[in-house]
Amino acid sequence: MANLKLNANSIFTNLIFLIALLFSSIAASDEPNSNNELLNLATQYLGSAPEKAFDTFARLEKLRPTFTPKQTDRYYLLKASWLGFSGMHRDRIELIQSYIAQVSDIDSKVKFLYELSDAYTNQGEYENALSAMNQSISLLPQISDMQAKLSMLQSAATLFKSLHAYDDAILYAQRMYLIDPNRSNKLATCLGSSNEIEINFLRGSRNLAKAALPMAIQVCQENGIAAIALMLKALDAVDSVNSGLTEQGLKTGLTVLTEFAKTNENSDYVIQLKEGIARAYLKLSNLNQAEHFADQAYQQAKSRNLVQLLEKTSRTMAAIKRAQGQFSSALEYYDTSLALKDKILDDQLHKNLAYQRVKYDSQDKANQLSLLEQKNKTLAIARQLEKRNNQNLILLVTLISVMLLILTAWLIRIWQQKNQFRETAQIDGLTQISNRAHFIAGGVQAMQSNHAAVSVILFDMDFFKRINDSFGHAVGDWVLRTVAEKIKTLLGKKDLFGRLGGEEFVICAPGASEAETVALAERCRVAIMEIDTNPSGYRFPISASFGVATRAAHASTSFEDMLAAADKALYVSKTDGRNRVSAFQ
Ligand code: GH3
Ligand code: MG
Ligand code: MG
Repeated sequence: MANLKLNANSIFTNLIFLIALLFSSIAASDEPNSNNELLNLATQYLGSAPEKAFDTFARLEKLRPTFTPKQTDRYYLLKASWLGFSGMHRDRIELIQSYIAQVSDIDSKVKFLYELSDAYTNQGEYENALSAMNQSISLLPQISDMQAKLSMLQSAATLFKSLHAYDDAILYAQRMYLIDPNRSNKLATCLGSSNEIEINFLRGSRNLAKAALPMAIQVCQENGIAAIALMLKALDAVDSVNSGLTEQGLKTGLTVLTEFAKTNENSDYVIQLKEGIARAYLKLSNLNQAEHFADQAYQQAKSRNLVQLLEKTSRTMAAIKRAQGQFSSALEYYDTSLALKDKILDDQLHKNLAYQRVKYDSQDKANQLSLLEQKNKTLAIARQLEKRNNQNLILLVTLISVMLLILTAWLIRIWQQKNQFRETAQIDGLTQISNRAHFIAGGVQAMQSNHAAVSVILFDMDFFKRINDSFGHAVGDWVLRTVAEKIKTLLGKKDLFGRLGGEEFVICAPGASEAETVALAERCRVAIMEIDTNPSGYRFPISASFGVATRAAHASTSFEDMLAAADKALYVSKTDGRNRVSAFQ
């Protein structure tokens, strides 16, 4: 099975080869010339005398390190073609597989994929062939080179045709001329319509094929693609024989055969044509001529191992031998034909299975893809929903936070206001120490427990009126503020300090003995005396007179009495000459 030649009844095997050669001979002008010359030579040999190409490939192999990437592509492509021609398809597959990842551009990659697909086809590995083909078809939108596009479509059409998947094959044939909507590329038009005609003949739509023939022959001929025109004419001749127009078919067939002899004797189609001519002669009872052509066709098909053509020519040979009365020879040819038919059917079965599997695979992949797409869509929707939920949550949290913030601010404001009210009720506005009422309340509370001594210091600024009178009320205020600030620094944590009114201040020192309190009063007196009045704008002395009263522990004097006692002591200080401390005796 492996050495079956696939396209036994197709004229296009040679054609693809022709196109491949056409592409590989195009070289960029900026590349080293000696390499290109040798590559061109290899191309030439492949086209005319492949057996001579061996030496050239050996020389090219040595030069390989000096190749540009494009030259390397071209070299491997040529080598793959050459291996194909030499029937070394396994080596060809290995060569392509080892190199295809390095192919420098899409156009070349498509050509390699074609080589790969063709090699697999020749190995009877149809699934692999179809996969390579599918790969190259998927690259079609990226192919820029028109000829590379044509090559790809041609090989797809050929492969599907050989798989008897005519509907697929004809689509690719039609795409050939559809890629060039203006029909300005005559090669595309010629190839597209020729393929379409052959496929129509193969699937039995011979009226469609016949109707398109004259136009296609004309386009191909007018544009110098005579080889294809000739092949179309050959198809026409064989069809005439097949449809009973024997003499017309014979006449055309012989003319076409002469033309083939001038150009391409080795075409598969020459075998088909000879076989057709043989049948025409058989029908006209010219058995000698019939045998002559049939035998030639048979030998050619045999030497090239073209199974389908061999089967067909054996059948014709059998018919001729029977007509000649050589029944045992006829039987042998029939046997050959039958054995080959089995092979062909078996091969066809394989091809069909491969085709169905690849179709199923691609369908399955398409299904998986759409499933995946659906899944992605669902995921995207879920993500969107989640995002929206998160956004809502964030909004809610923000709202609550803002509300909490407003509430807190409001509570702070209320608390501050409350504090402010309390402070205004308790604090003296000028000196920021306790006012009279607040101080007395604190003093009364401090006096409630009589476990320890409590002392009171009362002091009054000396000659304060003079300060006011001399420097103004504002300077007087400054003195009062400064004195209050200074005294605060001398007091302990438990001591209370207040302004009783005017320029009179009071200190309550819980737990302090008389001696301690007198000492404290003395420190306060000195501190007041030492106040520098310069910051007020004037320089003047200030002083205060002090009166101290102490209630010993366990005694039961009221706070009011304590204040009165201290006042008395203060009076003593005033009368004794001011700026001094007196303790109530
Ligand atoms: P002495 O040494 O006898 O205490 O003499 P003095 O001048 O300090 O006493 P006097 O009672 O005659 O005067 C107190 C002055 O204090 C009268 C008043 O105008 C002034 N005074 C009272 N309260 C304030 C105040 O809040 N600011 C200012 N600048 N002066 C005040
Ligand atoms: Mg005074
Ligand atoms: Mg006074």
